[in-house]
Amino acid sequence: AKDVILPVILPGATLGVMGGGQLGRMFVHAAQSMGYRTAVLDADATSPAGLVSHEHIRTAYLDAAGLTELARVADAITTEFENVPAAALEQLAQTRPVAPAGASVAICQDRAREKAHFVGCGVDCAPHAIIETPEQLAAVTDDLLPGILKTSRMGYDGKGQVRVKTRAELIAAWDDLQRVGCVLEKMLPLAYEVSVIVARGRDGQIVHFPLQQNLHRDGILAVTTVPAPNVTEAVSQQACASAHQIAASMDYVGVLCTEFFVLADGRIVANEMAPRPHNSGHHTIDACDVSQFELQVRAMTGLPLVAPVLHSPCLMLNLLGDLWFPGGVTVQQEPDWAAVLALSGTHLHLYGKAEARAGRKMGHLTVTGATPQAARATALQAAAILG
Ligand code: ADP
Ligand code: MG
Repeated sequence: AKDVILPVILPGATLGVMGGGQLGRMFVHAAQSMGYRTAVLDADATSPAGLVSHEHIRTAYLDAAGLTELARVADAITTEFENVPAAALEQLAQTRPVAPAGASVAICQDRAREKAHFVGCGVDCAPHAIIETPEQLAAVTDDLLPGILKTSRMGYDGKGQVRVKTRAELIAAWDDLQRVGCVLEKMLPLAYEVSVIVARGRDGQIVHFPLQQNLHRDGILAVTTVPAPNVTEAVSQQACASAHQIAASMDYVGVLCTEFFVLADGRIVANEMAPRPHNSGHHTIDACDVSQFELQVRAMTGLPLVAPVLHSPCLMLNLLGDLWFPGGVTVQQEPDWAAVLALSGTHLHLYGKAEARAGRKMGHLTVTGATPQAARATALQAAAILG
């Protein structure tokens, strides 16, 4: 199939996306603003992307009839959810261009394969051991402790992770995780965390966004700052080169985000990657001349990619469901958006989720400013209003 020159899929065509979450919603917005029609496959009748798409196919990811219908209505297909079964993408790829390919998504959805890919690219990752059997658990060496036990599959936002200090805690943690396949990672002394988002085209062209610096709370992204305040030119160059290598060596097509740890001694370690636009790239809608979602559209359709430019320093604040319950009230109430939007440089994005829950990503607020200091000052004011 690689030798076949695919035609560019132009506006007016229909773009399909597997998954109906907020990433799919922002993809749909980008595609529609460029004149495409959209189709979302997601079982949830109230999914954020399904609510705004021309077509919404309400089936499970592996439903044969649903996949057939998506391939019938869509001229090209992408994914917004990394745990879409690779087999579903492979079925779609029999009749339609699919980007990223099932084979790439399969690497990203398994921490063991992901780490092997980093190693194969010559990119450092945390010292780790794969734990799939009691023998592998028994063979773990003490230098990996204290560590974090992570399920190899289906983890997100810090879910499926247990921090363990001792061997006894490790054994108990694996039991708690139902002894599914896991990776034990050594706990590293992080100075700060960054991510790099690249887009790679069908022809192998790669572009990237400037590095994001990411602050997590309780394993969930809380704040992204761009330009990354702590990053040196050397760190930026090394992280970008690694991100390019990671994408190119799996012949990736689409948007790919790689998260990195920067250690106290300045070393850079790859953490994980996502085969889709990423929460740490939401600021690109308001602060860059082309967003990560537009690049997803361009990559999957064969349109040219352009190197994105950051036109405004910014911070992105995730709006978690907790904000809907200030001071522990039990009845959900809407935050004071009018007060937040009275601050100049605030850009509100809500995902259309009716029910707020603790830790649930309800939306995000991007705050732009003329300078990093100005953006930060406004972000602090917005955060104070939100409580
Ligand atoms: P998720 O898939 O939930 O995003 P990650 O592996 O990215 O899982 O872990 C979430 C966060 O936990 C990271 O962003 C980082 O703050 C912290 N973390 C994860 N692994 C390590 C590690 N080996 N050492 C120190 N902190 C870690
Ligand atoms: Mg992560």
